Amino acid sequence: MPGFEVFGAEERQAINDLFDANGGILFAHGFDALRKGVYKVREFEAAACRRFGVSHAQAVSSGSAALRVALAALGVGRGDEVIIPSFTFVATAEAVIQSGADLVVVDIDETLNMDPQAFRAAITERTKVVIPVHMLGAPADMTSVCEIARRHEIHVLEDAAQGVGGTFGGKPLGTIGDIGCYSFDAGKVIITGEGGMVVTGSKKLFSKARAYHDHGHEYSTTVGRGEEGAIGEGFNYRMTEIHGAIGIVQLGKLDGILAAQRANKAKLKQLLSDGGFPFAMRRILDEGELGDAVVFFLTDRDQTQRFLAGMKREGIGTKNVPDAMRWHFAKHWSHMFTKYGWYRDSFETEWQRSADILERAIALPIMIKMSDERIGEITKKLLRIAAEVA
Ligand SMILES: *Cc1c(COP(=O)(O)O)cnc(C)c1O
Repeated sequence: MPGFEVFGAEERQAINDLFDANGGILFAHGFDALRKGVYKVREFEAAACRRFGVSHAQAVSSGSAALRVALAALGVGRGDEVIIPSFTFVATAEAVIQSGADLVVVDIDETLNMDPQAFRAAITERTKVVIPVHMLGAPADMTSVCEIARRHEIHVLEDAAQGVGGTFGGKPLGTIGDIGCYSFDAGKVIITGEGGMVVTGSKKLFSKARAYHDHGHEYSTTVGRGEEGAIGEGFNYRMTEIHGAIGIVQLGKLDGILAAQRANKAKLKQLLSDGGFPFAMRRILDEGELGDAVVFFLTDRDQTQRFLAGMKREGIGTKNVPDAMRWHFAKHWSHMFTKYGWYRDSFETEWQRSADILERAIALPIMIKMSDERIGEITKKLLRIAAEVA
């Protein structure tokens, strides 16, 4: 997720241009007489609609906010159940908690994404939404998830925070389910510092998302903000013009970022395979993945620990797995379960299948600016460690 690698002069210029154009109006709405026709958040949304081939986009203050807003648009509240995978960033669970719904967490499979059969097995008459998450840039099995969801009349909300720019079956991640969420935080594939977006092909869901992200505002075309009505409850999850201006620039860099990291990943995987790297790679369902991580599985927990010790010695870092598992695997979320009750007595023994997979997984970050020398060097080190621990 390396948007930060190509961040600087152009983004700074975009902020200067914003101040030059309208004196620095940073609020995305109103001030119509003063802002001289400059609406950067709107422009960012329009550019995202074009790039991701989707009819509606609502920029918001973060990816977490996007999830909260999307759940509100789907009408999720008390008494509903929302199903998420055990392996995701904690924000997916937090958004469900904030919505008032009950959290249901299901196992992943060797794709490191939601196991569709585990999703199916967890469905009850209260299930309202399923949230497949495209972890580490690779798509969840949207064919199976959508098919099961349709049969049971469950809405599909894609958490594509880590999947911006990826595709599944030729369709941009985030635009396959009923509604999708993107994140532009400082670690993602394109970044605005903080920022997120809700995308959907449904005008109705979009109107609800737009209202919820801004205190319920109906977005009237005839009266001013102060006089217009509310179409429902809401909160403030608005994006600022600074973030919008930066987002436009970063979105323009997305294709270059994807091309570079996919090429680097392909080179590294080829070199590993040529060198006889003995360990299995993560099952990737579609070549439209982002290419920002290589994940491989060791044979057991002990060997994984020895491999990680080797990587540390050689100065090679990992990407979330396993260094930030605390924030990405439900087994570690006792602070939520003890407070809200779900899994309070069982979280330590739940999701054992996920644990068996994740405890043997190592994710290697793929950067945009990896030289061929660096890729060769990393490969050599990984092969050396593999020989030591095999
Ligand atoms: C980053 C992330 C989020 C939250 O996005 P923020 O912009 O950091 O709030 C949600 N889900 C997943 C899977 C993420 O990786």
